[in-house]
Amino acid sequence: AATAGDGEVDGSNAPAPHVMFIPSAGMGHLVPFFRFVSALSSRGGVRCSVVTVLPTVSAAEADHFAGLFAAFPSVHRVDLNLLPFDASAFPGADPFLLRWEALRRSAHLLGQLVAGAAPRVSAVVTDVTLASHVVPITKRLRVPCHVLFISSAAMLSLLAYFPVHLDKNGKSGVGDVVDVPGVRAVPRPCLPQPLPDLDHLFTKQFVDNGRAIVNADGILVNTFDALEPAALAALRDGTVVPGFPPVYTIGLLKSVGSHSGGEKAAAAFAAWLGEQPARSVVYVAFGNRNAVSHAQLREIAAGLEASRCRFLWVLKTTVVDREDDAEVRDVLGDEFLERVAGRGMVTKGWVDQEAVLGHPAVGLFLSHSGWNSITEAAACGVPLLAWPRGGDHRVNAMALVSGGVGAWMEHWSWDGEDRLVTRREIEEKVQEVMADATVRASAARVCEEAAMAVAEGGTSERSMQEFVSKLKAT
Ligand code: UDP
Ligand code: UDP
Repeated sequence: AATAGDGEVDGSNAPAPHVMFIPSAGMGHLVPFFRFVSALSSRGGVRCSVVTVLPTVSAAEADHFAGLFAAFPSVHRVDLNLLPFDASAFPGADPFLLRWEALRRSAHLLGQLVAGAAPRVSAVVTDVTLASHVVPITKRLRVPCHVLFISSAAMLSLLAYFPVHLDKNGKSGVGDVVDVPGVRAVPRPCLPQPLPDLDHLFTKQFVDNGRAIVNADGILVNTFDALEPAALAALRDGTVVPGFPPVYTIGLLKSVGSHSGGEKAAAAFAAWLGEQPARSVVYVAFGNRNAVSHAQLREIAAGLEASRCRFLWVLKTTVVDREDDAEVRDVLGDEFLERVAGRGMVTKGWVDQEAVLGHPAVGLFLSHSGWNSITEAAACGVPLLAWPRGGDHRVNAMALVSGGVGAWMEHWSWDGEDRLVTRREIEEKVQEVMADATVRASAARVCEEAAMAVAEGGTSERSMQEFVSKLKAT
């Protein structure tokens, strides 16, 4: 049985509520969980346990789990041993998607962890990828279940509406567009690539989870009201799906304490960034698991060089970091590195991205538009130049443009398309957005709004208080 230590007791002498977190896999999913767990435990009055599956898929995940438990000793680790999972039925599938499936198939073990925990679990917070398995289990146990949604409210609305869309369309399947009521029409090419294939494992999970979240007791979203007003209003008033559960906006989440790993690398970059003029550096990164082809990397390298801008580039050539043994010089060549020495830094390691974006030398973020990356840029007022690669990136890019965080290259290639984005296109666009005072002013305004949302009396702070009060009432 899991025990969550003595925890804390609030002023009323009532026992502190015990929240069991059941996260999923991939840093994009874990980062918001770690940030939310640390925010909640720093507030006091709530006991937190986190279900942990070892070994993790990537080394970055293992480092960050260890960092969380070291930085927050009151957060209790609950180990889960996954059932053996035969992945041979899914040749070539994404390793993170396979881990989601393995977790889903071990869901009854999660039920035992929840039921057996001491003190009694007062609420579960789980990841969207596990929702269709965890929500029914917690219902049977009569434990309230919340989903911490790790992407945009725009994406949440698509997830919630997609099963309704399929039911309406019948045999015609996905069709050319998914028109999410009250939010936006999402054209087929902007959907996560597997969605038109209803037999794809991703699609099956997506549809099941989309149906299940309507039965959750609440959805926590890492966004804020002023950033995505239309999507949030339509979710809350039942326009997207009638009877949708309460939506708590808890963003933008930030790291609390030092548990982000990569401190040494951060120090090296901080020294270099410290020597660069304000807002002069283009930060280039495509998330924790987006491998870019060598041919495309060469175009990016040449485009950055020709732009004559300073740059810090985090490049990844494999989906799983443990499989990456190539050096930067193997990928880009010594000559390139010599030519850009001093004005360009390139690394293949883990970079504390939140710290980099918070540095005053950074003036633009060329990004795949993963939601965590967008929120980190928005929180720092750094304009984002979005080059979506797959999954939720294009839907997020729509949200980032309407939210005023940056610009989106709608016609730049997406995983699975043959076309390379040329060095010339990259050079021109980087220069253009770096010089765009309107984009910069808009990002600065979003940054101010983001700060207001989490300040005393702000929309996200009130939402967080409402959530904590609800926990204490259970
Ligand atoms: N990240 C980081 N350093 C890296 C790679 C990724 O700090 O070298 C963090 C990044 O700041 C973000 C998360 O990992 O918080 C990636 O999430 P995102 O939603 O941006 O993209 P994903 O990796 O899920 O595609
Ligand atoms: N997603 C979802 N429900 C699911 C699976 C995925 O809503 O059952 C969303 C979630 O927002 C995720 C996005 O689809 O971020 C794209 O998934 P992808 O495979 O690109 O993985 P990720 O980038 O999240 O690791």
